[in-house]
Amino acid sequence: MSRLAVVCGGSRGIGRAVSRLLAQRGCRVALVSRSQDAARATVASLHGADHVALSCDVSKEMEVQKTFEMIQKTCGHISYLVNAAGINRDALLLRTKPEDMVALLHTNLLGTMLTCRAALRSMLHTQGAAIVNIGSVVGLKGNAGQCVYSASKAGLEGFTRSLAKEVGSRNIRVNLLAPGFIRTDMTAGLKEEEGVRSIPLGRFGEPEEVAQAALFLLESPYITGQVLVVDGGLQLAM
Ligand code: NDP
Repeated sequence: MSRLAVVCGGSRGIGRAVSRLLAQRGCRVALVSRSQDAARATVASLHGADHVALSCDVSKEMEVQKTFEMIQKTCGHISYLVNAAGINRDALLLRTKPEDMVALLHTNLLGTMLTCRAALRSMLHTQGAAIVNIGSVVGLKGNAGQCVYSASKAGLEGFTRSLAKEVGSRNIRVNLLAPGFIRTDMTAGLKEEEGVRSIPLGRFGEPEEVAQAALFLLESPYITGQVLVVDGGLQLAM
């Protein structure tokens, strides 16, 4: 039986690129996003068969619990979990509404905690199980106008390193990817000409380039608790 990969936030952007690459590598993909239609459309475009699309808001504990129960019941035990579900609400702190703070922390940080918690028991039953969480360079370096988003991503670093320590003895690995500017819906409103000035490689990254790094971490049997930056060198200038 091929490996089962759960990709949260798999319908668009980085998560979709990860789903495509994993499907090309022969994994069955359980793709999770709030929009069932978008998830179904992406699943229909994946290489191979036996992929499933599930609607779930990762910030809601009951939904996460039910979704992962359903995945295990219908698809079997989970080998890989990729947490790419995320939102941004960029604004200076003084202009950030408390409800946006809650949404950012609940989706980006709590959502990842909930999906990891829901997947772990199942992952104990598979060889070479691995989790990749998606943070951000701004979680490592900070960025004006992204205080709460940065905090949610910085939280993922501590969470990832701690969970790696907790589950290492069970041979489950946990790593964090920290992308810079990647060309997706999330960065569609940014002026690329301005952003690229501080990127040594001189361009935004593509979702497929982050997917390559995610695959590397998923498949590297002796790497855990690490942060891999995928940013074209951006953090060198931050
Ligand atoms: P997109 O906006 O392109 O895609 C976000 C994905 O997450 C969609 O599939 C969306 O589907 C899903 N999603 C959002 N909220 C939820 C939720 N509550 N529950 C379930 N699914 C959800 O974003 P990117 O691909 O650009 O970003 C992916 C991750 O990478 C995010 O965590 C982001 O913070 C991070 N990142 C992105 C960077 C970039 O430059 N693009 C840079 C650094 C980090 P739906 O809306 O249907 O739920």
